[in-house]
Amino acid sequence: MIITVKKNASKEDIRNLIKGFENRGLSVTEIQGESFNVFGLVGDTSKLDERLIKANPFVENVTRIAAPYKKANRLFHPEDSVIDVAGIKVGGKENIVVIGGPCSVEGNDMICRIAQQVKAAGGVMLRGGAYKPRTSPYAFQGMGSEGILAMAKARSMSGLPIVTELMSADKLDEFIEYVDLIQIGARNMQNFDLLKAVGRCDKPVLLKRGLANTIEEWIMAAEYIMSEGNDKVIFCERGIRTFEKYTRNTLDLSVIPIIKEKTHLPIIIDPSHATGDWKLVESMSLAAIAAGADGLIIEVHEQPECAWSDGAQSLKPEKFQRVIEKGRAIAHVIGRDM
Ligand code: PEP
Ligand code: MN
Repeated sequence: MIITVKKNASKEDIRNLIKGFENRGLSVTEIQGESFNVFGLVGDTSKLDERLIKANPFVENVTRIAAPYKKANRLFHPEDSVIDVAGIKVGGKENIVVIGGPCSVEGNDMICRIAQQVKAAGGVMLRGGAYKPRTSPYAFQGMGSEGILAMAKARSMSGLPIVTELMSADKLDEFIEYVDLIQIGARNMQNFDLLKAVGRCDKPVLLKRGLANTIEEWIMAAEYIMSEGNDKVIFCERGIRTFEKYTRNTLDLSVIPIIKEKTHLPIIIDPSHATGDWKLVESMSLAAIAAGADGLIIEVHEQPECAWSDGAQSLKPEKFQRVIEKGRAIAHVIGRDM
């Protein structure tokens, strides 16, 4: 961290500032400039609050050199992390995974049928929401525990591991018992108690990007989970809110190489929530694979026009299969399997 201090700072201010850093185990080097004095801090600055340092009237500027995240940081873990989700490997140089399923579980038979269709199309995991974060309290809120049991049944029938969203830590035991990959939804990306709770369990976590969060905030959310001991985090980009109205969200594909440069964790893309429009799902899926995504999570429904949530962005099973077939061709071009 580099701190630029105004020339009119008193000797006592400077002494106190340096002492504060040294008390935290940091070493401080001073360079006397013509207009400013510059202090370089060496050591673990991750616990320092640069805004607080800048609040000193004699401090001109504070620049962080090291990223504030450690466990997720590629610097301290150069090799890719490969996350094992009930035998399915996510991440690494070779494999691309495709997860499919409805936005919401709508019943036992429905989810079991879709599980078979997802599997037949080449999907390797089943998604389906049982606890749904809906904008309106009057919209379908999900089947709850019944939906989780239906997902578990679909898993035992199809053999596909299941991913579903956890909205509240008080349901964590149920998820530990039945769910293979715990989804933290966009709206909960900065629910720090929830992040800490899943950080204390041993299940892999699918961490969606918040509706309007920066990449650094997103990585810090992963850091919350990892700092509690759970290293099994998979990022999921699902579009961010911008001024654009032709799409539900704006898919930020540039996060793929950025997340891969900054962290060692896998990243998958959700083209369904990112676009809100089934017609855009195929092209965005192919672009995501070409850009280096480790997987896709796509909403699939037999009758999208009758879906209980997110029908407009859901693919029919045959269209889902076509995305996988085309995606495989792109995957092969870039030396990966799907
Ligand atoms: C979902 O996956 O159904 C969902 C609600 O996603 P997000 O949190 O990305 O909106
Ligand atoms: Mn949805």
